[in-house]
Amino acid sequence: MDESPLVKERTATEQMLHEKSIAEGPFAGMTEDESIEFQLREWVKGNSLHNPIREECCPDFSCCAPIRTPDNVRERFGNATREEQRGMLGMFLGGCISQAQESGELPEKGIYIADGTEPEEH
Ligand SMILES: [Zn+2]
Repeated sequence: MDESPLVKERTATEQMLHEKSIAEGPFAGMTEDESIEFQLREWVKGNSLHNPIREECCPDFSCCAPIRTPDNVRERFGNATREEQRGMLGMFLGGCISQAQESGELPEKGIYIADGTEPEEH
C-alpha cells in the first residue's frame, strides 16, 4: 500500500457514506468512464451531481457550491472540444472563487482541480 502522508485517510463514517453514495446514488453500478459521461450529461441538463466515484465536482462546482451556470453556457460546454472545455473550466473556477469570496465562504470540501494542478489555497 501507498502510505504517502499527503493522502488523507477517511474516517470510518466518511468511508461508509462514500460507499453508500456510490451503491445507492444515481451513480450506482457505473464504471469511472460512465460516471464522467453521466455527470456531464446531467449537468448540461441542469442537474448538478457530485461524482462520488471520482470525488469530482461538476465543471462549475455547482454540486458543492451555491452556483448556477446559465443553461446556454452549460450546453456550450457539453458541445465544446476538450480544449474549449479546459478554457471554460478556468472561467468556472474563477467565478467560483470570486463568489466564495463575496459570500465569505468556500465550498465545504474546498476547491479541487483534477488536472494535476495544486488545489487553490485561501
Ligand atoms: Zn461537488
